[in-house]
Amino acid sequence: MRSLAHARGGARDALVAYDSEQTFPEIREAVRRLCARFPGPYWRALDRERAYPTEFVRALTEAGFLSVLIPEEYGGSGLGLGAGAAVLEEIHRSGCNGGACHAQMYTMGVILRHGSPAQKQAYLPGIASGDLRLQAFGVTEPDAGTDTTRITTFARRDGDDYVVNGRKLWISRAEHSDLMVLLCRTTKREDAAKPSDGMSVLLVDMRQAKGNGLTVTPVRTMLNHATTELAFEDLRVPAANLIGEEGKGFKYILDGMNAERILIAAECIGDAKFFIDKASVYAREREVFGRPIGENQGVQFPIARAYVQMTAASLMVDQASALFEAGQPCGTEANMAKLAASEASWFGADMCIQTHGGFGFAEEYDIERKFRETRLYQVAPISTNLILSHVATHVLDLPKSF
Ligand SMILES: Cc1cc2nc3c(=O)[nH]c(=O)nc-3n(C[C@H](O)[C@H](O)[C@H](O)COP(=O)(O)OP(=O)(O)OC[C@H]3O[C@@H](n4cnc5c(N)ncnc54)[C@H](O)[C@@H]3O)c2cc1C
Repeated sequence: MRSLAHARGGARDALVAYDSEQTFPEIREAVRRLCARFPGPYWRALDRERAYPTEFVRALTEAGFLSVLIPEEYGGSGLGLGAGAAVLEEIHRSGCNGGACHAQMYTMGVILRHGSPAQKQAYLPGIASGDLRLQAFGVTEPDAGTDTTRITTFARRDGDDYVVNGRKLWISRAEHSDLMVLLCRTTKREDAAKPSDGMSVLLVDMRQAKGNGLTVTPVRTMLNHATTELAFEDLRVPAANLIGEEGKGFKYILDGMNAERILIAAECIGDAKFFIDKASVYAREREVFGRPIGENQGVQFPIARAYVQMTAASLMVDQASALFEAGQPCGTEANMAKLAASEASWFGADMCIQTHGGFGFAEEYDIERKFRETRLYQVAPISTNLILSHVATHVLDLPKSF
């Protein structure tokens, strides 16, 4: 009988070499070294308590990995999206989770692309150094769902302030963030020329807002993701914190969503590699009926299929990332990358549990935790059906269903 103790350590002995790792080899190696300081027991303890990985986030911040996308003039590394993708992929491949801090990497893009010179100067250096945490991205509402144009959180102009009222749901890391990018209506949907007009982006200072019109309530979920519900009651936000033009916020948010989808797809690639690594090692060493289970094609083929799916998805992530870096339209590619990668990671998760039999369910193997974590990505930041709908109607010219 294989003991649980046998599972500790060793599982990273014979890792598969992946082609995609030819990009940013030094960054990948450095991220792996950092992640090795945060092994399974660290994440399991946090998972049980649904606690925030403060030390892990601090280590990533101090190493500069969360500011790779910020231009050098503001204190970041000035690298392209591919570098951010490599960081997040390696975090996930190592069994860690970037969900606690990935937003620090890309949410600042709204300020970088649409903020005024004064706003960039005021916020980006602090975000680059980690002194300012911009981790919260407030879009989803309980009654709007994926149809973002139905949001009703409203910011009314009153002198030098906006006065915000409404609710947001599933806003992750709001308790661990100094700033939040908030999408709200400044014109009611029925009064706007188009449903997507009349929404604006405000930068909310969470340190001032909490208890002064903003209430943050944690929502416990099946994974440790620090997500929350927000209630706004006459929260005053300085008008100087408006990003870009009033009423144009939806466009600004959409720009940032492509980066988010590509980076989260990279996390899924990392998860898929984690599962393939684990399953390959286990299938080689676990003996049943007097031979390694990996000798059976019924065990081999799902692992090989997971590898094929992950590799194909990884190419799609690279393609979307290259288009993004070149400043080309990449909405379809970012969506397809996210869909392909999240399906590859989920197939890998299921395969890994199956390969491990009963041991796949034991907390000590970290597989059941990663299984729960990777399931999120077929729903958030956008669900699979909505991506399929985009491809059907925007690429294949099929009739619109909504
Ligand atoms: C853990 C977690 C963290 C999150 N973090 C954040 C965050 O930080 N900030 C933020 O703003 N949001 C966040 N979200 C919200 C997330 O982006 C949404 O849950 C997601 O976009 C889906 O929206 P919804 O839950 O409202 O689903 P709904 O829009 O209610 O959809 C429910 C189901 O119906 C399907 N569906 C809906 N309409 C159609 C249609 N026309 N055709 C076919 N299928 C359809 C969807 O695909 C989905 O499967 C988070 C969610 C979770 C669970």
